[in-house]
Amino acid sequence: MTARRRGRARPRTPLAATPLTLLLAAGLTLAFGLALGFLAGKFLGEPPEQHLAGAEAAPNPADEGVIAARAPSPPEPRLEQTDPIPAAAAGSADADLRQAASAELERLTHLPTPPAAATLPSEAVAPVAPDLPDPPEGGEALAPADMVPPWRRYAALVPAGGIGPRIAIVIDDLGLNSAQSAAFSKLDGPLTLSYLPYAHDLADQVAVARGAGHEIMLHLPMEPSVDADPGPNALLTGLSAEELQRRIVWNLDRFEGFVGVNNHMGSRFTADAEAMTPVIQALKQRGLLFLDSRTSADSRGYALARRLGVPAASRDLFLDNDDDVVRITAQLDLLRRMAEQHGTAIGIGHPHANTLTALAAWLPKAIAEGIRIVPVSALVVATVDG
Ligand SMILES: [Zn+2]
Repeated sequence: MTARRRGRARPRTPLAATPLTLLLAAGLTLAFGLALGFLAGKFLGEPPEQHLAGAEAAPNPADEGVIAARAPSPPEPRLEQTDPIPAAAAGSADADLRQAASAELERLTHLPTPPAAATLPSEAVAPVAPDLPDPPEGGEALAPADMVPPWRRYAALVPAGGIGPRIAIVIDDLGLNSAQSAAFSKLDGPLTLSYLPYAHDLADQVAVARGAGHEIMLHLPMEPSVDADPGPNALLTGLSAEELQRRIVWNLDRFEGFVGVNNHMGSRFTADAEAMTPVIQALKQRGLLFLDSRTSADSRGYALARRLGVPAASRDLFLDNDDDVVRITAQLDLLRRMAEQHGTAIGIGHPHANTLTALAAWLPKAIAEGIRIVPVSALVVATVDG
């Protein structure tokens, strides 16, 4: 500082080799050298940090693809082999189903209202998994089939338009009586129809239901806490890990075209987080969603699914615990009030004649009054919790 001030104070001094100018030159050289050294050190020291920071901040174009591809793909080759939905087969199955849908629609023209879901364009499904490509707009499939997990690949179309409350109505315990299944398939919708995996001719029943615009689930039998038989190959808390895994695979491999699973019975099994973990993991590996039927207030299924990043939803109301048309209609009205209050609601009913009668009258009226009936895949939460 002293040297620079002196330099400025005597700018015109001739550059004679006086002791004073020599001292001044030496001082300036020293200061310049120090400054140069400082800058060089700074320059050489910083680039690696800047490079690291840049690498972290810059978007990696490969990331999205890698994550999207990874999401539905099982890391375990053993389960991959047992995946019931090979991409190529799913594509042709979809084409077949679309053909069946058109044929079924023509057949159903006598109905007062054609199935809305099959005729109206899709609206973007509200909940979107953060690690998946956006749903296509205009109903065109943009992503390769093997990149879209079944819970979205097989999702029923959501009727376009409207801002009213959204209700999903799930009918489970289906499959044992195909005439019954066909009758529920003729209702307005899209409904969500859930089939017991040990039933027979499921492929035909599912094709009819999907053709009519409904969404399909697998109704997975699990151990109840009461004395009731959940059916063959049910998931039980007392099974060995190997046998439990075998039964999970057996059930999930029984048919195709379903978006996910809801539990049949299971008040004991779903309350056991350790027993439920391999089930939820299998759903994650296969790209399926989980609807917790909440047959027990202690069910751990929904929370576990959220924690493991499996698209999840939870039943709000059972519709037909009282098998009576008036009581069932009252439950449907209660479901509607819940949806009007919270925006959405999920009700579960069963293939009873009274449930069919109540729904046949209630659905067209609710839809005409602005209630949006949506498939359960439109109401799942697809983010990872905590
Ligand atoms: Zn059931």
